[in-house]
Amino acid sequence: MRKVVKFGGSSLANADQFKKVGDIIHADEERKFVVPSAPGKRYADDTKVTDMLYECYDLAEEGGDFGKQLKAIKERYQEIIDGLALKISMEEEFKTIEKNFKNKAGRDYAASRGEYLNGIIMAAYLGFEFIDAATVILFDEKGEYDAQKTNELMRERLASLEAAVIPGFYGARADGTVKTFSRGGSDITGSIVARAVKADVYENWTDVSGVLVADPRIIYKPETIETITYRELRELAYMGFNVLHEDAIFPVRSEGIPINIRNTNDPQAEGTWIVESTCQKPKYVITGIAGKRGFCAVNIEKDLMNSEIGFGRKVLQAFEENGISFEHVPSGIDTMTVFVHQDEFMHKEQKVVSGIHRIADPDAIDIEADLALIAVVGRGMKSTRGTAGRIFSALAHANVNVKMIDQGSSELNIIIGVANADFETAIKAIYDIFVLYQL
Ligand code: ASP
Repeated sequence: MRKVVKFGGSSLANADQFKKVGDIIHADEERKFVVPSAPGKRYADDTKVTDMLYECYDLAEEGGDFGKQLKAIKERYQEIIDGLALKISMEEEFKTIEKNFKNKAGRDYAASRGEYLNGIIMAAYLGFEFIDAATVILFDEKGEYDAQKTNELMRERLASLEAAVIPGFYGARADGTVKTFSRGGSDITGSIVARAVKADVYENWTDVSGVLVADPRIIYKPETIETITYRELRELAYMGFNVLHEDAIFPVRSEGIPINIRNTNDPQAEGTWIVESTCQKPKYVITGIAGKRGFCAVNIEKDLMNSEIGFGRKVLQAFEENGISFEHVPSGIDTMTVFVHQDEFMHKEQKVVSGIHRIADPDAIDIEADLALIAVVGRGMKSTRGTAGRIFSALAHANVNVKMIDQGSSELNIIIGVANADFETAIKAIYDIFVLYQL
């Protein structure tokens, strides 16, 4: 067995957390490839090193004095080095960073130093080899991640190694300039490494004991999901589940490698398994509930719409011409509704309305704002009768008016539109009926 282990910022925020991570790695000799994030927050209103680096570099770019800011970053690392009683010095590294900041090496370079330095410390602490991610993760000239080249290069480079630390979050273009993924991108690095070494498992260690059925800010102590499929997670992530970087699924998915979300502060907990497919019955009919506020519904009416070929395309063209992507398009016989993000749509609404009139010639257009969408996701719904019925009776009992219903043909999710004001009540009602009263 071969495991790739990625540790998030809060798991590496100080020396004590590093020690927990060291124990976790030593507890299982299959944990051989380690991907660290930059040090995160030590306490609630602390600042992540990545944010400190951005701030410091922005000053450097304006030509300001960034000495104080850089010193504070250096101290974060020194605190870890001292706490682990390591005999390494970051002097030279910080001199190089200072020089490169003065030469305006770029924001991506700046941010990447958080993971880079943490990787050096981690490698020294574990006695593993350090591999600079800039030498194994490649981006093309346009700044797009080059999956194929990276996979070949990384595979070749890691093949002869027993164990290695590869810092998360960044890589480099062909000319050697550093490029980062978007925020939280160390999750992607972990997934890329897992794919390259054909790992049996990609363990993603964080500060929660797995993926929760619903948002803990809405539901008091929600249940943890034991097993979730990649597709279910993608549906939930799209609707706001903040577990793993959205793009982290793709590299491992292409090799069928499961992801295990684990808690550094509770290593005994089994966490959540994210898998391609499973015959394991989900504990509840639904796997998770997620949602987002801030949508608009654009209702378009036209008599005999049903028999007009091309009407839908024309309506959507008006959105496309204004650069607005749509979320859902439920339709009736003579009506069609387009759900869009309110903040994107708001300042272009009149252009879109006149565009629809010009291109599709409808009878009437009506816009409804301040709506929320809730996704009820679960592979278990396919084989269970009455799921939709239970959702709607729960919502009716909670006095929530349902504005829209959309069930994908995969029967993996049901999307419900409600007023923003009913958002939390609706999620609670659905959670209660499927999880709380099922316990
Ligand atoms: N350190 C980076 C961030 O804060 C990347 C990561 O932690 O995954 O976004």
